Amino acid sequence: MPTDTSQHSTLNAQRSPKIIFGPINSRRFGKSLGIDLSPGKKQCNFDCLYCELDPAKTMVQQDEVLPVKQIVNAVKEGLHEHGDIDVLTVTANGEPTLYPYLNELIEEINKIKGNTKTLILSNAATIDDEKVQDALLKFDEVKLSLDCATQKCLKKLDRSHEGIDVERIKKGMLDFKVRYRGSLIIEILVVATLNDKPEEIAALNDYLLKLRPNRIDLGTIDRPPAFDVKPVSYERLLALSRQFDPSLALYIASRKKAHITPSSYTEEEILDTLVKRPLTEEDIEALFDETSQNRFWLLKNEGKIVPVDSNGVIFYKKA
Ligand code: SF4
Repeated sequence: MPTDTSQHSTLNAQRSPKIIFGPINSRRFGKSLGIDLSPGKKQCNFDCLYCELDPAKTMVQQDEVLPVKQIVNAVKEGLHEHGDIDVLTVTANGEPTLYPYLNELIEEINKIKGNTKTLILSNAATIDDEKVQDALLKFDEVKLSLDCATQKCLKKLDRSHEGIDVERIKKGMLDFKVRYRGSLIIEILVVATLNDKPEEIAALNDYLLKLRPNRIDLGTIDRPPAFDVKPVSYERLLALSRQFDPSLALYIASRKKAHITPSSYTEEEILDTLVKRPLTEEDIEALFDETSQNRFWLLKNEGKIVPVDSNGVIFYKKA
């Protein structure tokens, strides 16, 4: 499902032919209504091994294009039907920036959205295109995928269309970040043995230290993928998160947390853990046993731990 924003393609799980889907409640974004810019078929410049849609020939422009008016009318109806939407999430059965009238569309949506926020979920393959950037600048929040920082990995895991170059994506993101005033979130989807090698994580870390997005979501496969590729465990995500610089706001976006056994931490161990990696409330519940959680909240009450809001996700750090 799409609008939990965990994978830009995920909305397609139900493969609805409708432009509007949801609403879906998400802890981070509230009540989200999805807008599918390619409801008829998969239209993407990637063909990721983990995609939950059937494999499809990659393309660099949509060949089935909806009129802007049709989408805007559907959005109007959706907003009217569900009066209390927090966020409109633009995505697609594929890549939403392949929609040729994205700029015009977001301008029209901004005219009718009222206080509702807008979010787009993109695989970032077109972010080096100034016209795409111009359209993305008009969204309140932009979430871009970056599974790989090397071309070899991009080709193997995301099976990108011929000519898509990871260095241009990385440069495009840096240029976009300079121009953008909203929240830029990066999503890394980890697939076992494909992009979890130390050299790949080190390359991602080096790059992200330059980009400094507002938040990084580190997740793994949580729905049946098109190919026989495997997710990693929550413990593995946690271990990988420690290979990133602690100054990066890194959120472990995984639904597999419930399977780990919480452990006992002393006060010193809790503070030491927070120096290595700021934690969210979900991490705390997954990692710490009840006594340790009590210790954690006491430390917070004493001011030794402080909360920091990173675009809707609260991280706890050592004061
Ligand atoms: S970017 Fe990857 S996961 Fe998303 S729709 Fe395209 S192929 Fe599927």
